[in-house]
Amino acid sequence: MNDNLNNLLAQLHDIAGEGNVFGHGEIDSRYRVDWTAGDVGQPVAVVRPRSTQEVSEVLSLCSRLGQAVVTQGGRTGMVRGGTARRGELIVSTELLNAIEEIDPSAAVMRLQAGVPLQKAQAAAAEAELSLPMDLGARGSATIGGMIATNAGGNRVVRYGMTRDSVLGLEVVLADGSILESLQPFVKNNAGYDLKHLFIGSEGTLGLVTRAVLRLRPPNRSQSVALCGVESLEQATGMLRYMEGCMGGQVTAFEVMWNSFYVAVSKLPGAPCPLPLHYPVYVLIESLGADPSTDVVRFERALSAALDTGALADAVIAGSGREAHDIWRVRDSIGELLARMKAFAPFDVSLPVGEIAAFVGEVSQHLAASVPGRDALFFGHLGDNNLHIVVELESATEAHPVEQLVYGLLRGRLNSVSAEHGIGLLKRDYLSYSRSVPEIELMRRLKGLLDPRNILNPGRIVSLSGTATTEGETYGSWTIV
Ligand SMILES: Cc1cc2nc3c(=O)[nH]c(=O)nc-3n(C[C@H](O)[C@H](O)[C@H](O)COP(=O)(O)OP(=O)(O)OC[C@H]3O[C@@H](n4cnc5c(N)ncnc54)[C@H](O)[C@@H]3O)c2cc1C
Repeated sequence: MNDNLNNLLAQLHDIAGEGNVFGHGEIDSRYRVDWTAGDVGQPVAVVRPRSTQEVSEVLSLCSRLGQAVVTQGGRTGMVRGGTARRGELIVSTELLNAIEEIDPSAAVMRLQAGVPLQKAQAAAAEAELSLPMDLGARGSATIGGMIATNAGGNRVVRYGMTRDSVLGLEVVLADGSILESLQPFVKNNAGYDLKHLFIGSEGTLGLVTRAVLRLRPPNRSQSVALCGVESLEQATGMLRYMEGCMGGQVTAFEVMWNSFYVAVSKLPGAPCPLPLHYPVYVLIESLGADPSTDVVRFERALSAALDTGALADAVIAGSGREAHDIWRVRDSIGELLARMKAFAPFDVSLPVGEIAAFVGEVSQHLAASVPGRDALFFGHLGDNNLHIVVELESATEAHPVEQLVYGLLRGRLNSVSAEHGIGLLKRDYLSYSRSVPEIELMRRLKGLLDPRNILNPGRIVSLSGTATTEGETYGSWTIV
């Protein structure tokens, strides 16, 4: 190891203590992997600060040294934003995992950024409230990671994106200064609402250390059904119909194309209660406050839809266990991904009325250019959000597949990232969805808040004159 690196590690030890700094050779493999590929990270070291103050000291040190850092939460991100490139220092939030306070009367929770989503959900439920943020990676994804990516997930149709659940934030800026803005208010128009700058900024503008989240009333009734429909148009009609019948209680409307359902059915112990031949499957969930009437209303609405032919088939969960099993169908995406050698993930937005045609075009072009590759289509239909996963033999096949899919998206009203963010994987396609002035303003904000470009450099946008391509060395250190 060279002297500079030794010096960095010694100073990090002074800040975060023994056992919380890992140099090259001591880094556990979990810090190197992400969900999009295997062993891709090449960190120079890992540090696990125990408090906001320690984060501040780490960033202040890195700012002085010009050392690039990448923040890591639960490492479930899908755009390679949180995996370290050569020479980057990982700042892990895993020791910032305390739920500090729940105020039931104000229905708010204050917590540290490294708390996993599932732990926060359980704490809210214990206080007889609910945290509506939810996604399949709930066991690992952290609140800080969800804020950094403005994660969407399963219940956006009713509660909005992560942004809609965040009332206050504490962020450490690139130079180590602490921006504490932890007000628990729904309304706060006193000047610019700065927290929104950091929500969805993917760790490029600041490191989120604490948050105040808005909680909702507890849901006392849960109705869940898995339906088979003949087309996406029929599914769209069902969404509007169920929203009308349930008076705003629909919390999830998850669409899965046949290929997705068939793939899930092949998993060991797969809970697939409907036959495998429907073109499209829909998971519908409605949460309410009155078990005696909500469930009846839900069942009546679905049975009327079956009678009129608006639905081809449906199973309604008769117990919490069955509801869990139906959700497992949708949540099996994690298991499907884990079994693939490599894959290209897409997470796009486009007008609901164009999704069916787009899926048809993508399938056709994929069959022609990469025959034999399975593509899974699924998504949060109520939010215009379509996910596509194309199974690959190796990551080297990803580029032509990306060009094909994004090429078909271009020319439509679109977003190349509905919810996963841009990170490194989608940076080349940002201009398909954002105008030149928009991207230029993003660069100016980055330059203003992080003039030395030490925070997740190269993610989302690259700064001109700064090295940002994969494989280049950041900061002062090289691995020896
Ligand atoms: C099975 C599965 C299902 C998923 N479903 C959904 C879904 O439905 N909707 C959805 O939106 N996403 C989904 N995701 C993606 C992922 O779970 C989210 O992006 C999540 O928000 C990432 O949280 P994390 O803690 O794992 O962050 P990481 O992966 O560790 O990091 C993600 C990004 O945030 C930055 N970051 C992390 N913590 C902080 C912090 N404290 N301060 C500043 N920056 C930080 C990182 O540098 C990186 O750029 C899914 C992923 C998987 C594997």
